[in-house]
Amino acid sequence: MCKNCVNFISQGKVGDTGFRNNSETLCFRPNFLLYALFILTSLDYMTRSIMNSSSTKTSFTKVACPFCGIHCDDLEITATGNALQVKNTTCFRAVEGFERHLPAEISPRINGEPVALDKAITKAANIIKKSGTPLFAGLGTDVSGHRNILQTADKVGGIVDHVLSEGIMRNILALSDRGWITTTLTEIRNRADLVVFVGTDATEHPRFHERILWAKEAMFVAPADREIVYLGKKLDTKPGISPKGKKPMSIPCDISELSTIMNTLTALIEDKPLQAKKAGGAKVTDLKKLADKIITAEYAVFIWSPPKLNFPNAELVVGAVSDLVRKLTETKRAAGFALGGDDGAASAAAVCAWQTGYPLRTNFSQGYPDYNPSRYSTNEILTSGQADALVWVSTFTSNRLPPESNIPTIVIGEPGMKFKTMPDVFIPAGTPGIDHVGKIVRVDSVVSLPMKQLRNAGLPSVASIFDRIYQAL
Ligand code: SF4
Repeated sequence: MCKNCVNFISQGKVGDTGFRNNSETLCFRPNFLLYALFILTSLDYMTRSIMNSSSTKTSFTKVACPFCGIHCDDLEITATGNALQVKNTTCFRAVEGFERHLPAEISPRINGEPVALDKAITKAANIIKKSGTPLFAGLGTDVSGHRNILQTADKVGGIVDHVLSEGIMRNILALSDRGWITTTLTEIRNRADLVVFVGTDATEHPRFHERILWAKEAMFVAPADREIVYLGKKLDTKPGISPKGKKPMSIPCDISELSTIMNTLTALIEDKPLQAKKAGGAKVTDLKKLADKIITAEYAVFIWSPPKLNFPNAELVVGAVSDLVRKLTETKRAAGFALGGDDGAASAAAVCAWQTGYPLRTNFSQGYPDYNPSRYSTNEILTSGQADALVWVSTFTSNRLPPESNIPTIVIGEPGMKFKTMPDVFIPAGTPGIDHVGKIVRVDSVVSLPMKQLRNAGLPSVASIFDRIYQAL
């Protein structure tokens, strides 16, 4: 931009047709650039004003939901100021997540006292700097948040672990031991003619049946004709009733017996002789009926929920499912599916894998990533005293509180969190898909969903907080 135009602009001499320098020659470059800047600034201001206004109602369509791993992307939401309302589903997790109230006080805190964000960031950076091995845990955030957490953990020699890693590790242990064949939500919707729920009823993913099993359309199967089977006790099998009214098959058994059940099914499918009348608490005659369904199905999918397999050596269940699937794929299609991915778990696992080459529960204190699924669990680290500072991140819910510990604690989390003991630093952060844009990896790890910003409450993203902490280290 020429010097004269700068003077003109500073004096406010902006005309309809652009700027003229002293020699009255049209100067098109500043004209175009400044108009573009003016329009962009105005649009941004207008958007923020609309979002901030407590009376203006703004409607959003095709909103992706951050509150469980399947991340439905068809929501309609209205925003009135900072209050959000879900318009087109009664999914309790979506309603609870989007419609929760923002507390009146959202300032960062040091030892419970409100402070400016700069001060909280400096204090957090100082705690991390002084720490020999900080633990970065919880990790309830989006892809950018995970990237910046990993960058920080790498710089200071920290350990990373997600709040749902117990379940993730069951998958990782089975995968690294035997390998597996898994599928995607889209494949299940379009191809699965038999779906077997192994110890889960998928109710923690409230729209799974509506969106995937009983979808209005599918490419290669008639959704309403699918066969549904539940293995386990105390499962809600009602969502498994097909739109045509066909009831699902249900085989009650103790969840800890699921690996025996899966191995028995494999034996029956391989036509091995079996003398027992019962296996894993289930009648062998029932298991034979299921084995026949599996044999005749064109594409059987076996679904388990990692957090539900909460007992010692539960990875054996995932291994047994993988063995059965491997046997079936000798002659046809079949697959497993781990239905989890809540609280940004799929994003955390994916980012850690692509950034470091290792799963979560990785320690950077030796200058290289050191993965250990049991030694670097949050619980083990805190009880054994391996870490001397805890950085807890949780932005999807106020219920995921940091574990009790006597080491300096920084919490970067949902503003409504209520602590028994106030952390040394608490920085309220935005939820991806509500307070800022972002990307979250779906449970099947094949797509990352773009999250929208629905309001402007002034809550920073985890990525921006960690970026500033990183700069301050
Ligand atoms: S099923 Fe999950 S992703 Fe879909 S609307 Fe409910 S909470 Fe959100």
